[in-house]
Amino acid sequence: MVGHEKTNPYSPYDFETANKRYVETTFDGSFTIVGARSRCGIITCCDARCIPEHFYEMKENEAFVIRNGGGRTASEDVIRTLTLIQILSEIKELKIIHHTDCGSLAFNDEEIREVIATNDPNVPGGPWKPEALAWAESMAFQPFKVGKGETILQGIEKSIIQDAAYLKAHPLIKASIKITGWLYDLETGKVTQVV
Ligand SMILES: [Zn+2]
Repeated sequence: MVGHEKTNPYSPYDFETANKRYVETTFDGSFTIVGARSRCGIITCCDARCIPEHFYEMKENEAFVIRNGGGRTASEDVIRTLTLIQILSEIKELKIIHHTDCGSLAFNDEEIREVIATNDPNVPGGPWKPEALAWAESMAFQPFKVGKGETILQGIEKSIIQDAAYLKAHPLIKASIKITGWLYDLETGKVTQVV
C-alpha cells in the first residue's frame, strides 16, 4: 500500500526557497481581490499529477478548486465547501474531474481496514495510532468500483457519472448550476467530457 516508495522515491523539496523565489520574481499583488472569474468550481483528485491550474492553464482568481482522494463529491466537507462558495459567489458550473491511473482504483474499504488492522510497524511512516481502526471502520473511503466485465475506464467513468448525479440531486447545490463530469488522461494531458 505504500507504493510510492517504488514509483517515485522520496526526494525533499525546498518549499521555503521556492516561495522566496516566487515572492521575488512572480508575485505581483494583482490578485488580492477575492473571487473566481470563471464562476466555476472544480472538484478533482489530490493526486500530485492532477493539477487543474496546470492542465487548464489557470492563473490565480480563475476557479474554485476542491481536491480530495479521487475527486469524490459525496462527502460532508465537499458539500460544506460548495455551500460556502455559493453564498460568497455566483457559481455557473461545477466540474467533476477524475483521472486515469487514480489511486482510488487500487483499493476498497475492506482492504484499507485490513492494512490498518494488520498495522505493520515496519512500513514507511511507522505504525497507526491505537484508535485508527475504529475511525477507519466508521468511514467510507469511496474507491472507484470496477464491476465484472467492465474496463477500468468504464469504472472511472461510472464514478464521474455517480458524483455528478450526487451534486445534481443535493438540496444544497442550486438548480441553476450546470454540473459536468470529465476525465483527465495522465498520458495525453487531455480532459474529455463524460457527462
Ligand atoms: Zn486520483
